[in-house]
Amino acid sequence: MDNQETSNGASIFEKIIAREIPATIVYEDEIIIAFLDIRPINKGHVLIVPKKHFRNILDGDEAVLAHMMRTAKKIAQAVMTAMKADGVNVTMNNEPSAGQEVFHAHLHVIPRFTDDGVFKTMRNGDYETGEMERVGKDILDALQESGS
Ligand code: 5GP
Repeated sequence: MDNQETSNGASIFEKIIAREIPATIVYEDEIIIAFLDIRPINKGHVLIVPKKHFRNILDGDEAVLAHMMRTAKKIAQAVMTAMKADGVNVTMNNEPSAGQEVFHAHLHVIPRFTDDGVFKTMRNGDYETGEMERVGKDILDALQESGS
């Protein structure tokens, strides 16, 4: 059994949406639900989850993704106030190599505190001469091929 699935095959988040397992819900409407992460990076860490299943940003419905991000702003403001936080990260892990463990799309809203020692930022690299232009062109080409 995949670690994101329960014994009947539904993801843990689908079980929460169906009220089959408990969660501390902080926001809900007809499209999304938001609840506290059970293993918070900092206390007040919220997950924003679409009710209709999709895996992540790569297959997600654009309108639903936009609604998730709109709601992330409201929840980020509420988390800043409620947790007396100094900052907030809004992140999304897409596919295992990017840290995704539960394969039902979700945004993380994570309150941050000065010197909380959690993580500062991702490691930055650099480009060889000319490489940046080539990479940029590859992405431009891929966008054009997809009709964007
Ligand atoms: P991911 O790594 O897929 O982006 O994040 C999945 C998140 O779901 C993790 O931060 C994890 O702590 C959280 N999580 C996993 N199982 C449960 C659960 O049963 N309840 C709640 N509230 N959060 C969960």
